[in-house]
Amino acid sequence: PASIFGAIAMAPRDPILGITEAFNADTNPGKINLGVGVYYDDNGKVPLLDCVRRAESVLMEQPAPRTYLPIEGLGAYYKAVQELVFGADSPVIQEKRAITVQALGGTGALKIGADFLKRFAPGSDVYISDPSWENHRALFESAGFTVNNYTYYDPATHGVDFDGMLAALRAMPEGAIVVLHACCHNPTGADLTADQWGQVIDAVQEGGLIPFLDMAYQGFGSGILEDGAVVRRFVEAGGPLLVSNSFSKSFSLYGERVGALSVVASSSEEAARLLSQLKRIVRTNYSNPPTHGGKVVATVLSTPELRQLWEDELAGMRVRIKQMREELVRKLAEKAPGKDFAFVRQQVGMFSYSGLTKEQVGQLRDESIYAVDTGRICVAALNSKNIDRVVDAIAKVL
Ligand code: PLP
Repeated sequence: PASIFGAIAMAPRDPILGITEAFNADTNPGKINLGVGVYYDDNGKVPLLDCVRRAESVLMEQPAPRTYLPIEGLGAYYKAVQELVFGADSPVIQEKRAITVQALGGTGALKIGADFLKRFAPGSDVYISDPSWENHRALFESAGFTVNNYTYYDPATHGVDFDGMLAALRAMPEGAIVVLHACCHNPTGADLTADQWGQVIDAVQEGGLIPFLDMAYQGFGSGILEDGAVVRRFVEAGGPLLVSNSFSKSFSLYGERVGALSVVASSSEEAARLLSQLKRIVRTNYSNPPTHGGKVVATVLSTPELRQLWEDELAGMRVRIKQMREELVRKLAEKAPGKDFAFVRQQVGMFSYSGLTKEQVGQLRDESIYAVDTGRICVAALNSKNIDRVVDAIAKVL
């Protein structure tokens, strides 16, 4: 008998996972994958942070039964997240205007936020940067939104087309949802300056827009506090605010799915109503979050010694990426004189829009070096052992 699913077409392949599949199939022992969105250490390994290992051994010493967590997650977790995201002395915490729910990574946080907004701002469109993290569009579309781009990246300067961005923000209809990368813009590595953020906040306020800050890389730019500054500036400006954050990268806990969604309300009474609705969304999706990752992060963040260790380890990752940027610029200047890659130094976070064309990326692949067609490379996948090969290959395809 014919299957009722017989006519379902194949879904399009995820472009980034496609790179990983091609990389895995490559038998060249010298292959290098710069297409990933993961931090590797200088040995080319995903680190298991010491703070995580130690928190896990603390948890192992007092094994606990795995009961269900509350729908909104572990109390110690979302309190620690609030302090990290808003600052421990934030008025929105003191006034109980901020609500935070544990989420399945940053992606899960964005999805809870998207479902929430679709319920309570159903007529709004969503605006994401051009370009943006490749899942933003699909995620908000799957929540039922029309998703538009706002001007962001300028290939000519390798930086932000700020006039274009501001004009786009000012042209958005009232109530539009604008997704902003709080720091370490993925995929371009081009961030706004403090002054430009001020102008963005003004435009968001004047236009009556709903800001949704996606903070997936707190600590990878200039520091934990510095990278979170934009959240506090939005809070000071007032108005509604959604923030998704993720510990996938900053704790190297990718597979544990630890993130959170925070929403700032205008009063504690409003916050209670919003929380009840967020809980309903969680309940009807996956009921409640998993225990392990949240416990690890809460333990680290609330134990002074482990917290210091985490901050040091995170700084280590940040500094290593910056060193790789420096090395890349310096070595390319030697191997490809006349081609200016100095902009790579200005970019922030794990990625660089390298300016390599799709053809050049294809030629790199012939050398078993894998990057995204857009020219995005993961600087965190470079290390002292593979950088020379990468530089030589880039110099050859330029
Ligand atoms: N937002 C951005 C901008 C990202 O780059 C990522 C991960 O690559 C996420 C969200 C999702 O993070 P998670 O892996 O925690 O779901």
